[in-house]
Amino acid sequence: MRRHVNIPIFIPHKGCPNDCVFCNQKKIAGQIKSPETYEIKKIIEENLSTIDSNTDIQIAFFGGSFTGICREEMINYLKTAYSYVEKGQILGIRISTRPDYISEEILDILKKYGVTSIELGVQSMDDRVLMLCERGHTSADVEKAVKLIRKYDFELVLQMMCNLYGSTEKDALETGKKIVSLKPDGVRIYPTMVIKDTKLEELYNEGKYIPENLENTISLCGKLYMLFYENNINVLRMGLYSSKELTEDGNIVAGCFHPSFGELVFSKIYLEKAENEIIKNNLQNKNIAIYVKKGNASKMAGNNKKNIKYLMEKFSLKGIKIVQEDSFLNFEVKTSENLL
Ligand code: SF4
Repeated sequence: MRRHVNIPIFIPHKGCPNDCVFCNQKKIAGQIKSPETYEIKKIIEENLSTIDSNTDIQIAFFGGSFTGICREEMINYLKTAYSYVEKGQILGIRISTRPDYISEEILDILKKYGVTSIELGVQSMDDRVLMLCERGHTSADVEKAVKLIRKYDFELVLQMMCNLYGSTEKDALETGKKIVSLKPDGVRIYPTMVIKDTKLEELYNEGKYIPENLENTISLCGKLYMLFYENNINVLRMGLYSSKELTEDGNIVAGCFHPSFGELVFSKIYLEKAENEIIKNNLQNKNIAIYVKKGNASKMAGNNKKNIKYLMEKFSLKGIKIVQEDSFLNFEVKTSENLL
């Protein structure tokens, strides 16, 4: 099977005139220099030399709002990346941007220079939350952008956030449902962090923003994951990347950052499925077997066997054996009395 790899190129806050309450990009934009053409080439070539040939490679411009960069500079970035597409070394280019920075003129340029995937920062489909977070766009802008992107036949990934300022679990799940109705190819789910030097930090210090705890955030992301999964939408990522800039020097003031956030969510999904199965099959007080898809035993067991310990105690079980089955679907869990 072919692997997929992105070569990430960070363009700090370029092209974004906005100042969303949770974002510190504007503050750090002056401190982090945007890469010059020769630096972009160096990043690409260094990465290419280490990636094996059985790989689909994309160059991914992220940070800021790529299509908001002045045309000349944006085209220069694209031309540099596109030269590798023309040589057949790179399959395509991936960019991320804001919904209100999509137009036919922009999409024509992206198409011309080999962009294949567009990621839109949706964050919420609730206009009240978008306004409170000072996003500077509405849910209607998202719908309009999605329609245009679809017309041009790009791969489309929508990014959403949970625990936003003014947001509840209910509206995050509503955002999830609206995203499903837009039929993206993939989504990313990011819990909100209180980052140093942001308006959200001020709101947090004033007691106006109270971050959600890790447990509730895992539970909400589990519900969102299953919503997308059941609608055949690929979840590319849950939780922020653990970058040096983010985790160093107390940059995260509050919020439930965890380097293995996605794993914790999967573990919670398996736990809930196993609980339901045990109840459904009346397996309390028994010695049981839990069947999962091959490769998913550690997700079922949980970190330090947390799920196993929890199930043993909650259902007064005599023992649990995890059995891995090739034929199982992801997240399929079956239980039976273990008679072996
Ligand atoms: S649109 Fe994106 S880059 Fe711009 S301020 Fe908001 S989060 Fe930051």
